[in-house]
Amino acid sequence: MDSAWSALNADIQACQRCALARGITNKVPGQGSVAVRLMLIGEGPGQQEDAQGLAFVGPAGQLLTRMLAAINLNRDEVFITNIVKCRPPNNRAPLPEEAQACLPFLRAQTRLIRPPVILLLGASALRALLGEDKRITTFRGQWVERKGFSLMATFHPAALLRDPDKKRLAWQDLQLVRDRLAQLAARPGAGG
Ligand code: SF4
Repeated sequence: MDSAWSALNADIQACQRCALARGITNKVPGQGSVAVRLMLIGEGPGQQEDAQGLAFVGPAGQLLTRMLAAINLNRDEVFITNIVKCRPPNNRAPLPEEAQACLPFLRAQTRLIRPPVILLLGASALRALLGEDKRITTFRGQWVERKGFSLMATFHPAALLRDPDKKRLAWQDLQLVRDRLAQLAARPGAGG
């Protein structure tokens, strides 16, 4: 981790920019490698994430680990974070103003990592990054090219736990991600 990364994490730990900072146990900046081709962005920390200060460590995180394994990735090969770095009360979705307050941290993380592929997990991440009018059910599975990044949205793993019928569609999305990563890796000069 270089000094810019350390400084960013220190800024997140000190942040009181929105009301979500009150009542949390830990900030959850996100974790993984910073030299990755895939960044995953969810909604916000839940109870277990808040307790541990780590993203996606509860049941939804365990499903996410299995989803990644299905496309031959382990969690050390991606960076996983959320739209907001503090747990919303009662696991509610972040309010638009909370998402906007926290987005500078996500943008800074993205600038430092420069992942070519970004997978948005669920409606909150989709709306915060690609527009409040977007619906996950109709927008999932489509590539959006923006500022040098390839973005796609799919269902949040928690939604897949609630409604397993969605898993088939999520698998289709993951296969598209797998194929895009394979294309990138096959480009001349692509590093490991
Ligand atoms: S959610 Fe983000 S903007 Fe709000 S207090 Fe936490 S770190 Fe700061």
